[in-house]
Amino acid sequence: MRGSRFGSVVFVVISLLAALCYNPQLYATGVSPLAAVPVLLLHLALAVTFGGIPGLRWGYFLFLHVAGCALTYFYTLFDVSMSYDTLAWLLETNRAEVDSFVTWPLFLLLCAGIAVSLVHSSLSQSFRASLAGRRYAAMAGLLLLCALVSAEGGRAAFKHLGGKASYEALSMSRIVPVSVVKAAAAYVREERRSDTLAALPDPADAASSLVIPDHEKPVVVFIIGESARADHFGINGYERDTTPRLSVERNIINYGVCRSFANTTRISLIGILTDATIEDRTPRHGSFISLFNKHGYDTAFFSRQNRLGRSGHLTDALVSGAGTVEYLKGVDRDLVTRLQAFVANAGGKLVVLHTQGSHFSYNQQYAAEHRRFMPDTYSNEAMPRDIANVINAYDNSIVKTDAMIAETIDVLRDRNAVVLYTSDHGESLGENGVFFHGTKKVADEQYEVPLFLWYSDVYEKSRPDVVARLRRVRGTPVTHDFIYHTLLGLGGIRSTIASASHDLSGVTAPPLRASGDEAVALTE
Ligand SMILES: [Zn+2]
Repeated sequence: MRGSRFGSVVFVVISLLAALCYNPQLYATGVSPLAAVPVLLLHLALAVTFGGIPGLRWGYFLFLHVAGCALTYFYTLFDVSMSYDTLAWLLETNRAEVDSFVTWPLFLLLCAGIAVSLVHSSLSQSFRASLAGRRYAAMAGLLLLCALVSAEGGRAAFKHLGGKASYEALSMSRIVPVSVVKAAAAYVREERRSDTLAALPDPADAASSLVIPDHEKPVVVFIIGESARADHFGINGYERDTTPRLSVERNIINYGVCRSFANTTRISLIGILTDATIEDRTPRHGSFISLFNKHGYDTAFFSRQNRLGRSGHLTDALVSGAGTVEYLKGVDRDLVTRLQAFVANAGGKLVVLHTQGSHFSYNQQYAAEHRRFMPDTYSNEAMPRDIANVINAYDNSIVKTDAMIAETIDVLRDRNAVVLYTSDHGESLGENGVFFHGTKKVADEQYEVPLFLWYSDVYEKSRPDVVARLRRVRGTPVTHDFIYHTLLGLGGIRSTIASASHDLSGVTAPPLRASGDEAVALTE
């Protein structure tokens, strides 16, 4: 009996410590100590409840301590908390990305989490034995009730008193382990969203026409950067020359800073590939790729953002219409090699290249030849301390991107071709202690990306009016909203669904008169 009582005390202590350790948001500035009370009660209630269900006991404690340790690690070091974006990243990431985050300290922490879960789980039986039968069930129920009442009451009170930090710390989306369950539910909803994207109306069904002769269809290459922020590009006035090759290209038209649709890859890609806009975020039509198919272009989507063999990725749903879809291993330069093979024969092409660009970990994104800024080594555990090195590595990744775009241009120099580049989103590099992207904290550097294009001399000869207009509109504040319509314009495609005000080339104004059957398609 005495042993069982001691076990019960340890069980309660571990439950309370777990609540305090796994919810570091409770120690953020401005959070009232009172906010910890409902979190403590909730943890105790969950431990008591699951500890009493033999079939779920071990699974619950393992989940609690492994998820708790991992999340505390990422929150403490990188200010990343569990959200459906974090979970989706975990489920859709590739091996290289996982490798870049798995370090010895994290591994040891997870092992410790498993050990604690075993102890916690076995002690729950002592606890149960010391509180027999009905008293046990009553206590679980009472604790849960207290937790819910105090959480709701506390939240309302904190909000009322203006304690915004406390209010947010008590959000169920923040409290581990509930946050993980909420994120999982959001992810399931998102899988359904992917089905909705796949079922969007096909833009090729609307009236459209080609404004150029068939034999003058160009090669349109659209490069999607990764985590590349505008202010770290030499051509945008960055103090370091991170774009030595692009800065000497003659036919570059640079639009400067472009506002991204979102600060995560998967959401931004929806904005980039469809006609969704930053203001009205619902896409009306599927990707522009099918319009290029309709007008006789060979289309391809080559990506370096490999998946773990999963389907249901939002981007997949949008690019499946491309004639060729390939996920490449290796390095970003392999995209250029693949492009070269794809454009070997004559005729109009649309090629979308999805790069790894400047994705974390930055110093694994480039070869020795791009290492301009040194030292470029840092420890994931101490990025704020190694900030200068982190930025060196990040800048080297931009040098790599500069080379990759220049190599793309080299492949197309003598062709009738145009290349458009933007990044999916930017990246925080320690501003206000924030790193990476996709964070809940609003950080402009995660939304400010480059946007520029290059055209060949042959392209200019074929379409001098378009090039003149593209030059003339420099200085227009640009956003990802322009991508869809500008790409159509660059390919000489007019469509009733295209927005002339978002086409930097000035081509995609709707035809003045739709003829015959096409008029029916106008009513959408
Ligand atoms: Zn991204």
